[in-house]
Amino acid sequence: MQYAVIAEAYEKIEATTKRLEMTDLLVNLLKNTPEEVIDKVVYLTQGRIYPDFVSIEIGVAERLAVKALVKASGRRESEVEEDLKKSGDLGITAQKFIASKRQLTFAHQPLTVEKVYETFDKMAQTSGSGAVDLKLALLAGLLSAASPKEARYVMRTVTGNLRLGIADMTVLDALAIAYGGGKEARELVERAYNVSSDLGRVAKVVVEKGLEGVEKFEVLVGEPIRPMLAERLSSPEEILEKLGGKCAAEYKYDGERIQAHKKGDEVTLFSRRLETISNQYPDAVELFKKCVKARNAILEGECVAVNPATGEMRPFQELMHRRRKYEIKQAIEDYPVSLFMFDVLYADGHDLTLKPYFVRRKMLEKVVEKTDRVKIATSIITGNVDELEKFFLKAIEDGCEGLVCKSIARDSVYQAGARGWLWIKYKRDYKSEMTDTVDLVIVGAFHGRGKRAGTYGAVLLATYNPETDTFETVTKCGTGFTDEDLEKLPKMLKSHVVGRKHARVQSLIEAEVWFEPNVVLEVLGAEVTLSPIHTCATNAIRRGNGLAIRFPRFTGKYRLDKAPEDATTSKEIVGMYQRQLKKIQESPASAEP
Ligand code: ATP
Repeated sequence: MQYAVIAEAYEKIEATTKRLEMTDLLVNLLKNTPEEVIDKVVYLTQGRIYPDFVSIEIGVAERLAVKALVKASGRRESEVEEDLKKSGDLGITAQKFIASKRQLTFAHQPLTVEKVYETFDKMAQTSGSGAVDLKLALLAGLLSAASPKEARYVMRTVTGNLRLGIADMTVLDALAIAYGGGKEARELVERAYNVSSDLGRVAKVVVEKGLEGVEKFEVLVGEPIRPMLAERLSSPEEILEKLGGKCAAEYKYDGERIQAHKKGDEVTLFSRRLETISNQYPDAVELFKKCVKARNAILEGECVAVNPATGEMRPFQELMHRRRKYEIKQAIEDYPVSLFMFDVLYADGHDLTLKPYFVRRKMLEKVVEKTDRVKIATSIITGNVDELEKFFLKAIEDGCEGLVCKSIARDSVYQAGARGWLWIKYKRDYKSEMTDTVDLVIVGAFHGRGKRAGTYGAVLLATYNPETDTFETVTKCGTGFTDEDLEKLPKMLKSHVVGRKHARVQSLIEAEVWFEPNVVLEVLGAEVTLSPIHTCATNAIRRGNGLAIRFPRFTGKYRLDKAPEDATTSKEIVGMYQRQLKKIQESPASAEP
C-alpha cells in the first residue's frame, strides 16, 4: 500500500471539524487498505505503531528531527530553525523544504506503508549507544524518499504531533461501517475493543474473520480489559431500589485501580488508563506473584497507600510519590501499599467477563491467598437500608471513600469499558449538601494577570459526552490552585497546546489557549445551574441552555490516572442537576409560603 494514500486521507481529515465527515473519510481509507496492513494503518492514524498499552514510542526529539530534515533537504540548520519558528509546526516546515528539494531531483520510488511502518518500528526499538545516530539516519532516509505531503505526516508522527483528532470510538464506527455491514455492528466491534484495548487486533479480526470472528473474540492475558465503571447515587434507598432490592456492598478503597495480568511467573500491572505501571509498584508485582494461585489470571483491585508503622490506610494523594522514575526503592519504603482485590476477569482458561457477580467473587476467593498485605474487598450482601447506611459509615471510619454497591442479579456481568448501573458508588462527598466532586478535562486556558502573570489565571473545563464523543465546557476554574500548581500547570499542558479549538471540543467560549483534551482535574462545585454559555448537556434540561458548575474549586487532585474519556460525563451532570432540584423541592424551606 502506498503511503501517499494515507497522507492524502490525513490531509482531508485534518481539514474537517465534523465528526461524521471524519468517519466517512476514515471508512474510505480503511476500505482502501489491504488486509495485511489494516492493523498498521489503524495504529498509524492514531500516531502510534502499537496499541496504547504498549509503551513503545517512536520518540524523536525536535532537535533530532530538525537535523534529519537538514540532512534530507540539503539546507542549512539555521534556515530550518528559522522557518520552524515561523510555522510552529515541524510537519509544515518539512513539507516546504522537501518540496523545494524535489524540484531539483528526479522522481523517487513511492514510499509504502510497510516501509514507513518498519522504519518507525526500527526507530522505536533502537536504544543504547549509537541509537541517536541510527534514528537520525533512518528518519533522513524516509524524508529523502517522501513526497512533500508525506514528509509532513512522517515528521508529525515521529515527533508525536500527528493529532488528527480521531478518537478510538470513531475508528470503531468506521470499522463497523467499512467491514461489519453497517453501524449496527458497532456494539459487537466495541465489545471486542473493550476486552482487548487493541484497535489493531480488532481491525484485523473484523477484516479477516468478519462479525463471526468478532463474536468469538477472547480475553487475552497481557491485553488490558477496559475497566467497568460505576454510576453514582446519594442514598441507600435509591441504590437498593435501582439494584432490585438487594446488592453486594463493598468498601470503596481510596487508592489507585490496578488490573494485574499474570502469565506464569510474569506479572504486568495496568492502570485505570491502561498504562503499564509495573515499574511504579515492583512490590505489588511481587505480592501478586505470591498471592495469586492461578497460573494465568487477570484480576482487579485497588492499590492503597498504608502507614508503614500502623498499616492504616492513607489517602490517594500519597500514591503520587510512586509516580517517579528514580529512587523508587526509597518510595517503596516510605510509601508502602496494600492490595484490596475486588474482581477476577480470567483464570486458567476461563473468560469470566460474562459471568455474574457471585461466580466471579467465588473465583476471587479461590484464586487469591490472603495475607496482611493482600486482601479481598470487605463486603456484605444486604437488602436493608439501615444496614447499608451503617456499613457506609463504617467504611468511612475505616478510611475508605464510601461504598461500591454491586448488582447480584443473573445478568451482573463485567461490563468492560462501560459506566452502567450494575455498579453504583455511594461516596462521602455526596452527603454534603449540593457538593459533589467531579473530574473535568482541561480544554482551554486564560492568561493570568497581575500576580499570576506568566501562568494561567483560569482553565476552561469540560465534561465528556460519550454519545457524540466530544468534550463540552461546563465551567471556568481559577480557584484552589497553589503557587506550586500555577507553576506546574503550563509545563504540564505544554505538549497539549493546539493552535485552535480542538475538533472534539464543543465551546461557545473563546479561550486564549486551547488544548487537546488530556489532563483531568478533580473539582468541587457548589451547585449546577442552567447556562446559556456552557455546552454541557445542551438542550437536556431547557432548550438553548447547557449546564454549568458554579463556584468551582480545584481540590488539589490531578487525576493522572484518568484518560479524558474517563472524566465525569455530561449525563452525570444532568443527574446532579435533577437530584439537586429534587432536594430543593423536598426541603421544608421550599414548602413555606
Ligand atoms: P472515582 O473518581 O469515584 O474513584 P472513577 O471514575 O475512578 O471514580 P468509578 O467506576 O466511577 O471510577 O468508581 C469506582 C472506582 O472505585 C473504581 O475505578 C476503583 O478504582 C475504585 N474502587 C475501590 N474499591 C472498589 C471496589 N470494591 N469495587 C470496585 N471499584 C472500587
